[in-house]
Amino acid sequence: MKTIGLIGGMSWESTASYYQVINQGIKQQLGGFHSAKIVLVSVDFAEIEKLQQVGDWQKMALILSKAAQDIESAGADFFLICTNTMHKVAEQVQQAVNIPLLHIADATGEKLTENKITKVALLGTKFTMQQPFYKDRLMAKYKLTVHTPSDSEQEIIHRVIYQELCLGVVEQKSRNEYLNIIDRLTNKGAQGIILGCTEIGLLVNKTHTTHPLFDTAFIHAKMAVKKSLS
Ligand code: GLU
Repeated sequence: MKTIGLIGGMSWESTASYYQVINQGIKQQLGGFHSAKIVLVSVDFAEIEKLQQVGDWQKMALILSKAAQDIESAGADFFLICTNTMHKVAEQVQQAVNIPLLHIADATGEKLTENKITKVALLGTKFTMQQPFYKDRLMAKYKLTVHTPSDSEQEIIHRVIYQELCLGVVEQKSRNEYLNIIDRLTNKGAQGIILGCTEIGLLVNKTHTTHPLFDTAFIHAKMAVKKSLS
């Protein structure tokens, strides 16, 4: 079994899901007392969130690079950044270490391809929905058509992530708002919805809608299990 490195804490609410899904996956495959070999470096999200607001991505790249180096020194064979948004600095972080990064957009792109989905809608932070680092990778590498919500819908999605989900708050009112957005995007032709923020799965899942949801935290964690056992 290979050792999985996790850069977590962004937010810890979703890192907890990674820890659970990875361990459940290993147990499912190997049975008995088996559990995952994991090295977790968890950052203080308050620092990161402040830097996001002022747009200091260079500083964030340094913080995550240091985390990746600690993970490498601790013996991980490969590593994950447990957030979609922070993949904006994925290249710099990868350059700081010799172990490979399992990119969240690749895990998601592969899953969508496997499901024969070609048109998707992307929900996430405004950074993820608006900037090219995530969408372009899905379009270029996986030939996907990626739709994003309207400006006012993006406001709602972003606000709920930072003011509720990253603080551990799950509100029915916000769930309904998300479900309305998902309905609209599906009616506009999206064959699947990417939950492109690792906390969204805490708010909406397949018990709330019949539209196909692709939860990036779950997909990413499952892919880590597969890679760990390969
Ligand atoms: N976990 C979130 C994501 O997947 C947002 C928090 C962050 O800014 O990293 O994008």
